[in-house]
Amino acid sequence: MKQSILFSKTRKEVSAESESINHQLLVRGGFVNQLMSGVYTYLPMGFKVLKKIENIVREEMEEIGGQEILMPALQPKENWEITGRWDTMDDLFKFTSFYSKTDLAIGPTHEEVITPLAKHQIFSYKDLPKYIFQIQTKFRDEERAKSGLLRGREFLMKDLYSFNTSEKELDDYYDGMIKVYNKIYKQIGIADKTYLTFAPGGTFSKYSHEFQTETPAGEDIIYLCKKCKVAINKEIIDEQKVCPECESSDLKEIKSIEVGNIFKLKTKFSQSFNLTYTDKNGKSHLIQMGCYGLGISRLMGTIVEVCHDERGIIWPKEVAPFDIHLISISEDEKSNKIYEILKKEGFDVLFDDREESAGSKFKDADLIGIPTRIVISSKLAKDKKVEIKKRSESDPEIINEEDLIKYLKRS
Ligand code: ATP
Ligand code: MG
Repeated sequence: MKQSILFSKTRKEVSAESESINHQLLVRGGFVNQLMSGVYTYLPMGFKVLKKIENIVREEMEEIGGQEILMPALQPKENWEITGRWDTMDDLFKFTSFYSKTDLAIGPTHEEVITPLAKHQIFSYKDLPKYIFQIQTKFRDEERAKSGLLRGREFLMKDLYSFNTSEKELDDYYDGMIKVYNKIYKQIGIADKTYLTFAPGGTFSKYSHEFQTETPAGEDIIYLCKKCKVAINKEIIDEQKVCPECESSDLKEIKSIEVGNIFKLKTKFSQSFNLTYTDKNGKSHLIQMGCYGLGISRLMGTIVEVCHDERGIIWPKEVAPFDIHLISISEDEKSNKIYEILKKEGFDVLFDDREESAGSKFKDADLIGIPTRIVISSKLAKDKKVEIKKRSESDPEIINEEDLIKYLKRS
């Protein structure tokens, strides 16, 4: 992609009211644009990052038996009355249809849709287990949507729902999901700071589990066991005062953001909707359910909070908008040639062919944060050399032009 024709532009400043780092860097870098508080447009580069995260998550959900569907965001009031959440969920967006005069909700989560849906698909033990997920825009009337992508009023979430015959089967699947979530955080580059966290389990389970990423931008407080690297959410520290793994009381208080939450719902929702299956003997039982949420857009914001320096974003390779940022310093012909070669070799390249000063091109490259920067200047071109610099490192390397592809494939 040539930067001269890119829809999004970098910006030097954002308004002073935007306090979060991810908002500032993502807006300045031209990844997103804010329509109003907690509501964003994803511009071409931001959309690429979001899709990369989404695809990593999708692959892992399919690997663990998930089948993808897409449920409606518009939902009838009746379903929310059945579960008793129409009046109790503060962040539920509600409105009345002008024509039908019926009350509707805009989905903040989908138990109220998937449970009655499952009644049309699951009848006997032969239909179980089932693991159903979607990656969809959720809506929540958040009180404080001031943390950029960390807390949207409209945001992208993966939600998977499990349906099993027994609690034991549910437990096994749940344990498998913990491993899969850890694998996802590893792939997107935040595993070092992301901890399995014991959290309230509601009325039906002792605990739920959250995945919390350490960052000063976080709105949660957790207590981390330095040895086991598992944590306890502040909400349950009164009943769980020691590390659940090693019983140590040497815990460190840190600020964090919840990037995933998995919950054993057991029969809470199957009871509400009378979701049952018949066993081998024709006897009817309630289905055991679990739900597994993961905030895709929040992850994008979290990555920026964790991976940046004073100059801009440092995207981990797997989620970077491009592999290479190619910068031409008054050497357009040679740069164009190298751009074509890089593309042919399978690299995804952002080519800065704009008529800007070297200084402002370098500043933008640091802000945008593509993992590898290649500079072609007249001075280097004369000696058939190019300059390569990793965004995560401070010093560039000068290498022979003919070694470029070999070098890139190695690193
Ligand atoms: P929080 O306590 O931060 O409000 P939550 O407990 O309400 O989170 P869940 O209902 O468990 O969140 O939603 C599943 C996942 O969706 C969360 O782990 C988080 O990653 C993401 N998420 C929740 N609310 C938002 C939001 N307003 N904006 C972006 N992502 C969100
Ligand atoms: Mg919430």
